[in-house]
Amino acid sequence: MTATDAARTNLFGLTPAELEAFVVGLGEKPYRARQLLTWIYKRWVGDFDAMTDLGRELRARLAAVAELRVPEVVAEHVSADGTRKWLLRAGRSDGLEQAIETVFIPEPGRGTLCISSQVGCALDCSFCSTGAQGFNRNLDTAEIVGQVWLANQRLGSGPGGERAVTNVVLMGMGEPLANYRNVLPALQLLLEDRAFDLSRRRVTLSTSGLVPQIYRLAEDTNVALAVSLHAPNDALRDQLVPINRRHPIAELLAACWHYLEAQNGRSITFEYVLLDGVNDQPAHARELAVLLAGRDAKVNLIPFNAFPGTRYRRSAPAAIEAFRDYLNGRGVTATVRRTRGDDIDAACGQLAGRVHDRTTVRLGTKMVALEVET
Ligand code: SAH
Ligand code: SF4
Repeated sequence: MTATDAARTNLFGLTPAELEAFVVGLGEKPYRARQLLTWIYKRWVGDFDAMTDLGRELRARLAAVAELRVPEVVAEHVSADGTRKWLLRAGRSDGLEQAIETVFIPEPGRGTLCISSQVGCALDCSFCSTGAQGFNRNLDTAEIVGQVWLANQRLGSGPGGERAVTNVVLMGMGEPLANYRNVLPALQLLLEDRAFDLSRRRVTLSTSGLVPQIYRLAEDTNVALAVSLHAPNDALRDQLVPINRRHPIAELLAACWHYLEAQNGRSITFEYVLLDGVNDQPAHARELAVLLAGRDAKVNLIPFNAFPGTRYRRSAPAAIEAFRDYLNGRGVTATVRRTRGDDIDAACGQLAGRVHDRTTVRLGTKMVALEVET
């Protein structure tokens, strides 16, 4: 990193108010910030030189003191079903230990982008390959929203000028609530009409259950919440999601219902990865139905995606269907998440595998964690 690079302000991390303060600090009029916002977030232009109405002199000054830097694309893979996956390098080091992934899932009428919030994760859920990878670092706000900007810019807009990314889910790498400081301003930028301008029901944060931060989130924003439950009792959840030992199910659910009430939300999505013989038995479905019946809750059943070294297996299709049908029969809406982009999973894994094994594992298992209802 050169001294000049370090001194430049990355405008992607700034809220509209901060951007205005920044241009005023340069001795410019506040309306310059509005022009910049339009170029960046309505026209997806990331090069100051192309921002023609700013004036030559201001463009040169911006290039000297500011930058619009997004994570660098290391590889792009497109699946037969249209799912697109980018391997990105956050930070400036050459190694793939800084690698994150972002996945775009096109569906009729919407495009969902699954973004990462950390490089790795410290929470060590036993069925998640991040457990093997461990925690590297938090992404900063610019790196988090930079994934969304990059996707919109690369995918271009539709025939009516509509943007490619209509929904964002924080279900990629990392635990977003463990990086609250950088994730909250990122959420605000995603909702901000002068920036990404997404509606709050189209931004979903997924958490493994950091209870104090769920209460904080209820104060600070109103995005949709998904919670990785994965087990209907504490004994089992303690094994699968170790953070449960600190914040058991009863506390977690209380925080969820509080969030819904505080935010006037429609429902909470509970993610439940089905592990053969571990949490997929009729007794588990019964226990889960008791926890959630009568609540504004949906269950998203995720077929487990195996990775090298894991002790778990994906449940049989019949077991998955029976689990789903039982919940629906008890009035708890449950859907099974489709796996998308299977074919590029392998390709991407091979690519990263030449450089960094653990990343391979991680990148190869997260394709399932993508689809969420709006
Ligand atoms: N840390 C957050 C968000 C990222 S994980 C969380 O845990 O919610 C996103 C989802 O992927 C979670 O529901 C997680 O349980 C699921 N997941 C992780 N590893 C998986 C695997 N091997 N197979 C299927 N789902 C997995
Ligand atoms: Fe982290 Fe989520 Fe994986 Fe658990 S499931 S280790 S919280 S990324």
